[in-house]
Amino acid sequence: MLEIRFHGRGGQGAVVASELLAQAVFFDGKVAQSFPFFGVERRGAPVTAFTRIDDQPIRLRSFIENPDVVVVLDPGLLRDTPVTEGLKPGGLLLVNSPRPPEAFSLPLGGRIATLDATGIALGRKVGTATMPVVNTAVLGALARATGAFTETSLERAIISFVPSHPEENRAAARDGAEAVRTEPVAPSTVAPAPAPPAAPLPFPEGPMASRPSHVLHTSSWRTLRPVIDRDRCTRCNFCWEFCPDDAFDLDAEGYPLVRLSYCKGCGICATECPPDAIQMVTEA
Ligand code: SF4
Ligand code: SF4
Repeated sequence: MLEIRFHGRGGQGAVVASELLAQAVFFDGKVAQSFPFFGVERRGAPVTAFTRIDDQPIRLRSFIENPDVVVVLDPGLLRDTPVTEGLKPGGLLLVNSPRPPEAFSLPLGGRIATLDATGIALGRKVGTATMPVVNTAVLGALARATGAFTETSLERAIISFVPSHPEENRAAARDGAEAVRTEPVAPSTVAPAPAPPAAPLPFPEGPMASRPSHVLHTSSWRTLRPVIDRDRCTRCNFCWEFCPDDAFDLDAEGYPLVRLSYCKGCGICATECPPDAIQMVTEA
């Protein structure tokens, strides 16, 4: 059995990726199982999805704790989420990143694969400029890097089940397969740094949120950042009003300033800005 765990954020398509993968596996004549796990369910929040592949009926129903493959749709997750936890020695880590595989490490060794799925999705216009949907590019890379399912069946699944822009998604999958780079990595000899002690919470736990937003520096979620064109800005403050993370201040003239420590890159401000004065640009 091959077990795959996807890590992404709401809106990037991690759940659909696991479902499309299962469909491709069915088209290959094998057996698959896929299911998601949601945390805080809103755009930009971490999402995990699981897929099992086998030639036999799959009777396991548990979360995948020791995957053979970990797929990371958002490289920002590597900063604050233990995505490789439980990855089997010799397993594969596939990361959506323009950086080469050598830029990453695996404590227990294995293979690392990378591709710039965000760039592919933006180029193929899959999703929007504020929220590119990277899942089909990543699945193309996954097919090429693992050989666990055929690229032909993946394309058939995309055409059959992706309701919006299936041809663009198929092209993104082909781009992803061509773009992926895979390198073997030796086990790391550097011991991981001990985790810092948890800071005490300034407020008690509440029924609506476990911590207040000013404590949650959601900037680590961000792959796109808002940039404001002051020449177009009318100072209507809609962006400040709609931002779910209270990430705006106003300067002395009443123009909005983005507090990047709190901006998670959801793009809602750009969507709501009446004169389109906000552009979402990729993080360097
Ligand atoms: S919503 Fe747009 S126009 Fe209004 S204050 Fe924000 S950036 Fe300026
Ligand atoms: S500033 Fe814009 S992109 Fe950042 S969290 Fe607020 S609404 Fe989302």
